[in-house]
Amino acid sequence: MKLTLITFASLILLSCSSQTTTNSPTKSTPKVMDTNYNKTDAEWKKTLTEEQYYVLREKGTDRPFTGKYTMTFEKGIYKCAGCGYELFKDDQKFESHCGWPSFDSEIGNGDRIKKIKDVSLGMARTEIVCARCGSHLGHIFDDGPTKTGMRYCVNSTSIDFEPEKKK
Ligand SMILES: [Zn+2]
Repeated sequence: MKLTLITFASLILLSCSSQTTTNSPTKSTPKVMDTNYNKTDAEWKKTLTEEQYYVLREKGTDRPFTGKYTMTFEKGIYKCAGCGYELFKDDQKFESHCGWPSFDSEIGNGDRIKKIKDVSLGMARTEIVCARCGSHLGHIFDDGPTKTGMRYCVNSTSIDFEPEKKK
């Protein structure tokens, strides 16, 4: 009986949140997420390091200029550290001097990275998360210096770099 009540309560919560986000262009609904990557917190804790869990699942942020990929400009692909989804290529990366790895676009047609309105810390920002597993990547800004005008500001902890194989 207790379980039924909890299920019922969470259903109400779900319907509330979907109603309130109807007008938002960057609404986030976990439904579109691939259920294969929709793990519980306990499962994530098993597969991620403590630092990865903090950034990917608790929306933490690397300290600026400390991330392992801030100054990496080798050829290769950056994948989601949570699920391995290929998100960025080396030629999309640029030096932003902001202290975090920055990219001016993403692999694919914009469907690999989900943009979510974020008003935490008293700022209106757009959070970016992996569209496949929902892991937090960083934020996106429209002040990029390249022709796309976009700046994907990403935590090094959120991504894994796979160097291009030498022929
Ligand atoms: Zn992912």
